Amino acid sequence: MKIDVADLKKTPGAQIELSLEGTLPSFEEEADQEVTLLSPVMAELRLKNVDGVILVEGKIRVQVCLCCSRCLEEFSQNLEVAINEAYSDAGGLQGNGKEQEGGITFFSGNTIDLTAAVRENLLAELPMKATCREDCRGLCPHCGHNLNLGECGCRCREVDPRLASLGKLLERE
Ligand SMILES: [Zn+2]
Ligand SMILES: [Zn+2]
Repeated sequence: MKIDVADLKKTPGAQIELSLEGTLPSFEEEADQEVTLLSPVMAELRLKNVDGVILVEGKIRVQVCLCCSRCLEEFSQNLEVAINEAYSDAGGLQGNGKEQEGGITFFSGNTIDLTAAVRENLLAELPMKATCREDCRGLCPHCGHNLNLGECGCRCREVDPRLASLGKLLERE
């Protein structure tokens, strides 16, 4: 997700607004959970040249497919994440987009690559334990039935192990 800042970086005080659409490489490894991007990443950005530092602010939106930590079903969720970054021209130095100083990322040439920042911000926004809905009932600990789909019939047998045999007898009727 690259932005051409050739004009912007020449003019302190200048400001531009733009929308950007891009794709990201999958980031399941970093996320430590199943995450699939279902849509391109949409960014609404405002770029400002403040004393030669280019401030990037705005919102990024993407639809992701997550795995529910309770019922293990996949579900989709819209993420909206704020982005707030500062970039500085590395000048003659070789900026590779990874060097940072005081929260400022260096770039070289006329383009800022937002990919790393977008990924970081999205990752930070992912729920640690995603749930498909607030009242997801999860799986039955005994038979693994998805309780969102209805009762499985195991529950009453949790009561007392001594009654378990009775329960079995009743079941045969
Ligand atoms: Zn669930
Ligand atoms: Zn069950």
